[in-house]
Amino acid sequence: MYIVLLGPPGAGKGTQADRIAEATGLLHVSTGDMFREHVRNGTELGELARSYMDKGDLVPDEVTISMLKERISRDDAAQGAMFDGFPRNVVQAEALDAALAERGNKIDRALLISVPDEELVSRLSGRWMCRECGRLFHERFDPPSVAGKCDACGGELYQREDDKADVVRSRLEKQKPPEELIDHYRKAGVLHEIDGQKPIDEVTPLLLEALR
Ligand code: AMP
Repeated sequence: MYIVLLGPPGAGKGTQADRIAEATGLLHVSTGDMFREHVRNGTELGELARSYMDKGDLVPDEVTISMLKERISRDDAAQGAMFDGFPRNVVQAEALDAALAERGNKIDRALLISVPDEELVSRLSGRWMCRECGRLFHERFDPPSVAGKCDACGGELYQREDDKADVVRSRLEKQKPPEELIDHYRKAGVLHEIDGQKPIDEVTPLLLEALR
């Protein structure tokens, strides 16, 4: 099964993707995580990606698409995957469709997690991430036991450049899933819309239900 998770930044895609991966065994492919890993490793791609990410802009399609295609060509993606943060637009969606079609696969579900803007700003500007293992925390919803320290691995927590309040608003404007992208999956008959304003624990079963 191949699924895409759609939603604005802060809708809870990353958190829910981790939970879905745990419940279903699906491979979790996050282009944001892949870019952040390149940034951490100081690769050329990381340098390029960072110049866009820090401003809340999207990395150019050709760069993102070729990284994604390389990822899904690996053996561990042969049985299915869940895409989180990809596609962000119709060009990326069509590239994903084509890459899957080459192997006789297709997107089986597109899960759209919807959340109103005001709630997103408050969520995003309270988010902290572990520098070591990438685990997410939230000041309001999921604070770490010890401030500034990761519960999972003890690593240092930091606030992503693109989660700082002023960047958040412009990122929301630039990075909401465009209507044409949602339409792309609606037309394919695979779109399921989920109310992402509910608490995290209530959203997970709704998503799992949509996968049945
Ligand atoms: P995310 O973790 O999904 O919020 O992504 C963090 C940042 O990585 C985004 O703000 C973009 O700069 C970049 N990025 C992630 N996925 C994509 C994508 N599919 N297309 C373009 N840029 C992306």
